[in-house]
Amino acid sequence: MKKIRTRIPPSPTGMFHVGSLRTALFDYLFAKNAGGEFLLRIEDTDRKRLVEGATENIVKSLFWASIPPDEGVTLDANGNLTQVGECGPYIQSERLDIYQKAAQQLLDAGHAYYAFDTPEELDEMRKRQQLNKQPTIYDRAGMKNQYTVGDDETKRLLDAGEKYVIRLKIPEEGTTTYTDLIRGEVSFENRLIDDQVLMKTDGFPTYHLAVVVDDHMMGITHVFRGEEWVSSTPKHYILYDMFGWQAPVHAHFPLLVNEKKQKLSKRHGDVSVFDFKEKGYLPEAMINFVAFLGWNPGTEQEIFTLEELIEAFDLEKVNKAAAVFNDEKLDCYNKEWMKRLAIEDLAERAKPFFEASGLETGDWKLKDLVKIGRERATTLADIPENVRFIVDQPDYAADMLVWKKADVDDAKDKLAKISEKLTEIADTDWTEERIQEAIMPWIKENDYGNGNVLWPTRVALSGLERSPGPFEIMAVLGKEESLERIGKALSKLS
Ligand code: GLU
Repeated sequence: MKKIRTRIPPSPTGMFHVGSLRTALFDYLFAKNAGGEFLLRIEDTDRKRLVEGATENIVKSLFWASIPPDEGVTLDANGNLTQVGECGPYIQSERLDIYQKAAQQLLDAGHAYYAFDTPEELDEMRKRQQLNKQPTIYDRAGMKNQYTVGDDETKRLLDAGEKYVIRLKIPEEGTTTYTDLIRGEVSFENRLIDDQVLMKTDGFPTYHLAVVVDDHMMGITHVFRGEEWVSSTPKHYILYDMFGWQAPVHAHFPLLVNEKKQKLSKRHGDVSVFDFKEKGYLPEAMINFVAFLGWNPGTEQEIFTLEELIEAFDLEKVNKAAAVFNDEKLDCYNKEWMKRLAIEDLAERAKPFFEASGLETGDWKLKDLVKIGRERATTLADIPENVRFIVDQPDYAADMLVWKKADVDDAKDKLAKISEKLTEIADTDWTEERIQEAIMPWIKENDYGNGNVLWPTRVALSGLERSPGPFEIMAVLGKEESLERIGKALSKLS
């Protein structure tokens, strides 16, 4: 059997988008599930829309999401852009001679023709068609092209350096039908399909020619892309047919929309993968969340590692309905993944966020801070803020120390008592577990009441209305600092 090969072919016209990440992820999962290969090609034929740095951003986004390409444009060991594989180059602007040859092949076979219309003339044509309520497709019989001026005049115009494009000669009759893995049979009437431009006046191919030539030459077996390409696909099937090539299998994924059912776009907030990275989302959470945009495993399981996704991925479970991008859901995945990561790993990933926060962590161990900070955090960026109270104890009002079911005297009494009790704990026993083992039975034996002791203690340690539990904080603060903060609380109450 042929080796499965999928590809993501973004245009470097902006930062890598979550919609493209979804397609890339499905490409990756499908290929890996079948022991196949996943390739990255850069489609930079629209020269006016190129954005500096976009290619690098695309590749780095895939690496960040831990779905790097096996072939094509990738990063070398030093993190620099490179190309790997036998079917290169993988950047379309480096393949112009290939497209020129392919276009010539179609011209020679009579499947394509030269056209000499100016943009103004094409504009007029469209206006005329709109007025007459006709489909706005190229009027082969009425415009200035090889058919209307004849072969000799065409040659003369070409020799004279006249500007031209090469257009695809769509058959006038019949229908073009293909089977989409998600949508089933899709049919288009040929008379409504445009004589697509294949080569532009600047000598660059259009997307349509380049994508077909490259998918064929790169041995792609499965083409997956967003729904917006459905109507282009018949043109591609016609091209495969004219070249005498077998078309790959096609599948079009449902649109991604926001909660207002609008297509996801920059205007509606963050959509680039790096925006999410910079906000402190974990790649594990992002991948897990994105996998569920239009796919589900058909079971109750929601948390998946990449390995598990590869195992579970099945194209049959991709649905046709638009997939809703729900920010709160992403937050849930992120919280869950922050809990699942080993603390050392999380600390490493939180480092840049600590640097950016400007929080002076002094002698505090990052690992200890992160252990406390991850508890109420949605993203990595929340962690430094959540541990600010460890590094610099915030000032707080004395009455915060008084639990709602107690009074000032009780708070003072319990703080004094716990302070004494804590002094008895040996330095070597100063761990969350041991402190808890010493304090909880002691509260019970003396019938002090949990809230009466733990509330003022926790506030004394954190200065906050809400925070992680007192034992956890004490373990991080250390004995000396913990007792000092309790002492300070006592003097506030006196
Ligand atoms: N270059 C196209 C894009 O940017 C690729 C579409 C396809 O997958 O064929 O989306």
